[in-house]
Amino acid sequence: MIAVEQHLARILETVRPVRSFDLGVLDAQGCVLAADVQAKVQLPGFTNSAMDGYAVHAADVAGASEESPVVLPVVNDIAAGNTNALSLVMGQTMRIMTGAPMPRGADAVVPVEQTDGGVVHVSVHGSPEPGQHVRAAGEDVREGQTILRSGTLLGPGQIALLAAAGVARVRVVPRPRVVVLSTGDELVEPGREPGFGQIVDSNSVMLTAAVRSVGATPYRVGGVPDDARQLMETIESQLVRADVIITTGGVSMGAFDTVKQVLSRVGTMQFDKVAMRPGMPQGFGVLGEERVPVFTLPGNPVSALVSFHVFVAPALRAMAGRPENAWPPGYVPAVAAESWQSVPGKMEFTRVVFDGDRVRLAGGQGSHMLGALAAADALAVVPPEVTEVAEGDRVDCLPLLGAEAP
Ligand code: AMP
Ligand code: MG
Repeated sequence: MIAVEQHLARILETVRPVRSFDLGVLDAQGCVLAADVQAKVQLPGFTNSAMDGYAVHAADVAGASEESPVVLPVVNDIAAGNTNALSLVMGQTMRIMTGAPMPRGADAVVPVEQTDGGVVHVSVHGSPEPGQHVRAAGEDVREGQTILRSGTLLGPGQIALLAAAGVARVRVVPRPRVVVLSTGDELVEPGREPGFGQIVDSNSVMLTAAVRSVGATPYRVGGVPDDARQLMETIESQLVRADVIITTGGVSMGAFDTVKQVLSRVGTMQFDKVAMRPGMPQGFGVLGEERVPVFTLPGNPVSALVSFHVFVAPALRAMAGRPENAWPPGYVPAVAAESWQSVPGKMEFTRVVFDGDRVRLAGGQGSHMLGALAAADALAVVPPEVTEVAEGDRVDCLPLLGAEAP
């Protein structure tokens, strides 16, 4: 038996960030930059007005006030999108809109609120400083400046900056492509009615959803029978498009546990008993020339989802260039609202429901119990040496992956 931390350490020592790739900026959302990015153009690209108002020579309106306004002739209107290069001579003004290019010579804008809004002549009672209400060319970003560093996670704000700075494609660590396949003679495709002795392959849809909620790209293969040749053929044919393969089922002590029988003989696959509940039988290794990491998770649905949270999600984050959330993960501290027993010597992942900062059991804790799994908000992580959680005890909780699918 090995500790959870030991198994995870072997996984995280093995996985590498996916080879970087150029993507269009919008497709790169949720990815991490693999290189620094420089601005192709300065921002703002041209000096423009920050307000709707009147472009002026500040000297013309110096000292203007409610009591002694300054009257200027309005010689032009400049809208946003005006592409003519205009010049303003002293003693005149032009009506200007937010984002419109400042006419040459003008050095300030009087907001429309500080005028009578005139269109032929305007009476101005505000006296801006030179540069006031003006956005200077290049004040935000200089041309050639490094605007985002390698390692930056791209969200809406970063994507906007890239687009504005004239950057169409960026080098990123792409989303890992994850092949999900389940094994078992008893499985039928979701949507089909299972006969006696059969069950719906819920694991492959569950793990496909889990892969998506950590920002990776799932390829659901679905159920493969407990047959050595079919299993090996399926895995070999999937290796070409996979950065990771996840299987479920067939790794415990049963007579037809094909995954373990077949994969024990190849690559660097290693099968261990991990001191955890649920999820004890785990396999991990790399297969094929590209050394694709393969996780063989147990078949029981709760075991498979717990294993995903504890082992696969940290690995996928590391492969996406985001190693920050490995282990221990971002625990949420809570207080037990009831007491429960925990097995000695194993890290237990109890399915719990949040009630403010308190947690209670989500229902039956059997590793086949999807009803309780679906009711749960989090896994309460009970360390191996703790055999009883008492009401009022502090427990660390690992929130279950949410509903967002980026
Ligand atoms: P195994 O690890 O293959 O012995 O499977 C353990 C338990 O998990 C058995 O009750 C299986 O029927 C169940 N199981 C295995 N694969 C799946 C699956 N894809 N979806 C739902 N349950 C499964
Ligand atoms: Mg099985």
